[in-house]
Amino acid sequence: MDVDRQTAAEKLATPVQFVAGVGPRVGPLLHRLGLYRASDLLFFFPRDYEDLTELRQIGQLEEGKLQTVRGTVEDIEFRALSGGRCVLGVSLRCEDGYLRAVWFNQPFMQERFAYGQHLLVSGKPRYRGLVWEMAHPRVQVLASDEPADEPAGGLLPVYTLTEGLPQWRLRRIMRSVIETYTELLEEVFPEAYLEGHQLWPIHRAVAEVHFPSDRHSLEQARRRFIYQELFILQLALAIKRYQQRSLARAPVLETTAKIDARIRRLFPFELTASQRRAIAEVTRDMASPVPMNRLLQGDVGSGKTVVALYAMLVAVAHGYQAALMAPTEVLARQHAQTIERLLAASHVRRAQLMSGLGGKQRSGLLEAIAAGDVDLVVGTHAIIQHDVRFHRLGLVVIDEQHKFGVRQRAELRQAGTDPHYLVMTATPIPRSVAMTLFGDLDVSTLTDSPPGRQTVRTYWPPESNRDAWWKFFATKLREGRQGYVVVPLVEESEQVEAKSLNEIFESLANGPLEAFRLGLIHGRMSLEEKDAVMDKFRQGETQVLVCTSVVEVGVDVPNATLMTIESGHRFGLAQLHQLRGRISRGRFPGFCAVFAQPQTEAAHKRLQAFVNTTDGFRLAELDFQLRGPGEILGSRQHGMPPLRMADLRRDRGILEQARRDAQALVESDPGLAAPQHARLRRMVVARYGKTLDLADVG
Ligand code: ADP
Ligand code: MG
Repeated sequence: MDVDRQTAAEKLATPVQFVAGVGPRVGPLLHRLGLYRASDLLFFFPRDYEDLTELRQIGQLEEGKLQTVRGTVEDIEFRALSGGRCVLGVSLRCEDGYLRAVWFNQPFMQERFAYGQHLLVSGKPRYRGLVWEMAHPRVQVLASDEPADEPAGGLLPVYTLTEGLPQWRLRRIMRSVIETYTELLEEVFPEAYLEGHQLWPIHRAVAEVHFPSDRHSLEQARRRFIYQELFILQLALAIKRYQQRSLARAPVLETTAKIDARIRRLFPFELTASQRRAIAEVTRDMASPVPMNRLLQGDVGSGKTVVALYAMLVAVAHGYQAALMAPTEVLARQHAQTIERLLAASHVRRAQLMSGLGGKQRSGLLEAIAAGDVDLVVGTHAIIQHDVRFHRLGLVVIDEQHKFGVRQRAELRQAGTDPHYLVMTATPIPRSVAMTLFGDLDVSTLTDSPPGRQTVRTYWPPESNRDAWWKFFATKLREGRQGYVVVPLVEESEQVEAKSLNEIFESLANGPLEAFRLGLIHGRMSLEEKDAVMDKFRQGETQVLVCTSVVEVGVDVPNATLMTIESGHRFGLAQLHQLRGRISRGRFPGFCAVFAQPQTEAAHKRLQAFVNTTDGFRLAELDFQLRGPGEILGSRQHGMPPLRMADLRRDRGILEQARRDAQALVESDPGLAAPQHARLRRMVVARYGKTLDLADVG
């Protein structure tokens, strides 16, 4: 093969074993990292950098300035102090002396260190008489095969490795790859665009992201890639929305003054300001032939169901059917009851569709739905089973509660038109996530609660205060209140779940809650059994409900103001907040105690956040900071390819800009048909064409 006649694309596709410095031995190691072609190497970005710009010897250290020291772990000392406090000290032997790194009250840091480890620590040192000390420094563990021939300063890339491939070797390969192949890369952005948006060209960005000249260059290089990644995503979302808008297939359901008055008469209360705003947004969508695709978010108890019911009644007023789908039976029943209460005096024909229905009952119900003899259907996923057919479905409401499954659209069959969609979630989605993963949804947010809502005081008592808590719990029960004891699902198996629940139930019934009437509810019970237990609790016949998180959501008993959560570290932050929402529903203030033994830093922070704030929006942001969007939104659920460079927690500013730019571009060229946009269009289709079902582009 004549190398000189190869095109740039062919050269970039050179198999890695033919890249200078690789060869037949190292080639297969690179394959293990998923690197097959020269271009794969160019885009195999460092996972971190060793910052040697401020590297000092011990003798050169200055007090209070940010500096870096290299050394070997010689001693690890952990001391527990009174009151749950502790100190961790790690002594480093450096070339010309010692440095002690210390951490206060971070017991989990212990796990990160081992004797003999090579470390780079950065922080502001203080001289403590005999030894230099750094409190809470940034730590980087170095590979033991330190490069002998690397320059002593600057920023060095740290790559993910595989066995047999040392860091220094990969660095050398990278240097040569960048020298040979970077110039061949094709630029996706038109040149004027790069200049106008102060983005570095691809060649410069690739070279600097691997071997940055300094921090500033690294930032510029990263910004270029982060921007590109977010811009392509926002382009895809903007195109998707454009396409949705051009489809006019939903029934036009206008809310006339008469309809509005008829619906409002049913509600025995004034709508809150944000309910009114949400209803205005929803009814505006429903009055258009473009199918509504709206997310309604609001904290537990903020009144989402009422907004949803309003929308359903608008559909019914036009002779269309509406369906409300909940994730669990208990929740579906709860919705059905709320709706029954409000619709008691209306002629709207209601039905419940659950999976537990008998054959005859079910087929009768399905016939009525298909014939249009039912206006409003409330149920579980049973609603989307293949044999369910609607006569004229105008609106589907999906209650996701704390689950982010928004992208899973219910597949409701019917001929002709598409229904409008409204999805409810009680876990507010951080704005940056809403703009990316849910960028093709409109969002309405309930920011206030119906008047008279009580706050909940939350405690995280030590085990030694258990007795005192139960005494308090009993006092409140005697005053007439009710309460929950929530136990996490320990195992997948319901058998085990029921057993551990039973044990806790027994120990309470024969111990601190001996004098009270207790109820027990878990997933293995039949629908009738669950209903019976819930009814007794609702009517105050039982005072305490011992339950798993299966029944966490939706349960609405205003007199229940007490909650004990066992093994709280097993719950996610959103789930804890949902649970607590159960006891903020009535006239009396709520009290919640969570018993927990967190084993990780993240669990510890989660519990602290839970105790310190009751604002669901702030908790959602904190949860997002702690876990990251990937974990909150398992990609299985949202189905979008993961972001490789961008971190929505950090790159919010770039995200906002990329979104504005993408929207402007799609407005001026909706199909990205202009020749200077051809490469952008190819990238959008390659990455998101399938997931977002982008028809007619490319
Ligand atoms: P969410 O679904 O957001 O958890 P719901 O819609 O179930 O909240 O409302 C919780 C409770 O508050 C229900 O009993 C509902 O009837 C009541 N409610 C809703 N909106 C109002 C309001 N504007 N004023 C008074 N009570 C309300
Ligand atoms: Mg509700």
